Amino acid sequence: MESYDLIVKEVILPERGEGFDIAIRDGKIVKIDKGIEKDFSKEVLLGKGKIALPSFANVHTHVPMSLLRGIGADLPLMDWLQKVIWPLEGRFVSPEFVRDGTMLSLLEMIRSGTTLFMDMYFFEEFVAEAVQEAGIRAGLGFGILDFPTKVASTPQEYIERARKFVKDFKGSELIFPVICPHAAYTCSPKTLAMAKELADSEGLLLHIHVAETKSEVEQVKSEYGNTPVKHLESVGFLDSNVLCAHMVWLEEEEIEIVKERDVKIAHCPESNLKLASGVAPVHRYIERGILVGLGTDGAASNDNLDMLEELSTMAKLHKGVSLNAEAINAKTALRVATENGFSIAGIKAGRIEEGYEADLILLNSEVPHLQPLYDPVAQVVYSANSGDIDTVICRGRVIMEKRELKTLDEERILHTAKKWGERIKSSLS
Ligand SMILES: [Zn+2]
Repeated sequence: MESYDLIVKEVILPERGEGFDIAIRDGKIVKIDKGIEKDFSKEVLLGKGKIALPSFANVHTHVPMSLLRGIGADLPLMDWLQKVIWPLEGRFVSPEFVRDGTMLSLLEMIRSGTTLFMDMYFFEEFVAEAVQEAGIRAGLGFGILDFPTKVASTPQEYIERARKFVKDFKGSELIFPVICPHAAYTCSPKTLAMAKELADSEGLLLHIHVAETKSEVEQVKSEYGNTPVKHLESVGFLDSNVLCAHMVWLEEEEIEIVKERDVKIAHCPESNLKLASGVAPVHRYIERGILVGLGTDGAASNDNLDMLEELSTMAKLHKGVSLNAEAINAKTALRVATENGFSIAGIKAGRIEEGYEADLILLNSEVPHLQPLYDPVAQVVYSANSGDIDTVICRGRVIMEKRELKTLDEERILHTAKKWGERIKSSLS
């Protein structure tokens, strides 16, 4: 006789139909069928009228930055960074800022159905602490730069911070360390080599910003004589363990290099649009078989961490710029935001199938904008919003049920965020 930890009853499964049960044991989906006997499960959730989908994997963000959301709207990337963000970060970033900003982001991410994110920032040990409390998954890395900030003075010192983070968190249940040199224009070839050596010796991913803006391409070209991807290739940085965020401005030859080296891409369409950086030719990357995941980037440049909105934007954006309605269809958009992201992180999740990790969401279809329901995947991509997400499950654990958070204290987190807002606002005037 089978026993389960959790059965989700009578959900709508886009590929199978209505009335299916999902049985979960030890954090994995072990059976999908109609009428699974509920007596053998510790916990039962009713899913009638709800669409079950894999939860989202946000593969590029900076979660503490949500405390800076809404500041410096309508500026292009370099002005936004140099005139607004970097000075504010210099003044306010601290372990408390990182912890409280992360908490705010976790609240938003869980409410919008994300159970995995990949982050790059400072004081990541405080991000990790908050993630463990929230109960979702994260690939975290201590940002590595050439120039001094309050966390380190030399590239060696940043590397040592990253090394310590790896030592402290490698093998954790929910967290996996990632090595995060910021970008080719902020890290010298020597710094990149140190980061790569650390990642390779520990068997970890590298996460870096690449070819986000035209001005970055010009800057790298004038300094090293090569465009960013070619430059990274020439210093021996690119490999299958490298995740490059943005990849907006690539030459044909560079797309070939990415394909050849099996480099992974984090596509951040809304941040690229808002900062007027451009549109990455992602449908072409997908056509070539390059593994692309979806990221929001930080909430200070997006300006939210809503993956459902992000994937809808992605699907429509690429149809519009390529004049091809099939450029990224609904099914592909959903896969990019779920399975592809988990796959980049090396986690077998992102599908509702037996043998996959139980990371999933239940989305309420009984709302005006989702009725009548003909094609659940297309309607989720083009009609739903994250307020429809009713339940979130990560590794078989229910972390939100009927919109109620099980692991975080929403009121306290919002109160703390508002306090930060007051402090930061008074420094601006
Ligand atoms: Zn970023």
